[in-house]
Amino acid sequence: MSGAKVKEIEELIKIVSKLPGLGPKSAQRIVLKLINNREEIIKPLTKTLVEVYKNVVRCNICGNLKSSSSNCVCSNKKYDQICVVENLADMFVIQNTGIYNGSYHILGGTLPAFEGQKSGNGLLIDSLINRIEKNEIKEVILATSASIEGETTAHYISDSLKNKKVKITRLAKGVPVGGSIEHLDDGTLFSAFKNRSSMAKD
Ligand SMILES: [Zn+2]
Repeated sequence: MSGAKVKEIEELIKIVSKLPGLGPKSAQRIVLKLINNREEIIKPLTKTLVEVYKNVVRCNICGNLKSSSSNCVCSNKKYDQICVVENLADMFVIQNTGIYNGSYHILGGTLPAFEGQKSGNGLLIDSLINRIEKNEIKEVILATSASIEGETTAHYISDSLKNKKVKITRLAKGVPVGGSIEHLDDGTLFSAFKNRSSMAKD
């Protein structure tokens, strides 16, 4: 797309190249494809983007994405397990393995390694504890990463639940130290999940 520089197109390339896995070259190709398909792609894409921007919000109970016009999946009470993850990407990789069929809780990050014991730092930890009490959850699976922060977070949650009648498990140590859930291969994740073990409540 050398030659005449059109301001709008340059701007669009700049934005598209910020998407994961894309650099300036692939961004250019995508923008060309868009421009050559105004009616078939740009029009429906624009409409959908506006709808997503306006209507998709993060649930302030479970951290999942939801449409502002409907109930979140967490209002479904049929599950008695909750899998606690750091972010949406982690939830998606676990979902893709097909090994787990319960509900999820997306914390929105981890506690800092060395000062985490005091407060939830804006993570959805209080609402996790509420969910566990309200929905009579039998098992909480802590699937935070094997980093110091992930471990700190798992211990903080386990501590906060020590007087509750709920089983707390942690993914098996097949997860490499420092490893984030998002980047595990399916096989490792599958066995880490299958071989999860109870966390000692001290
Ligand atoms: Zn929710």
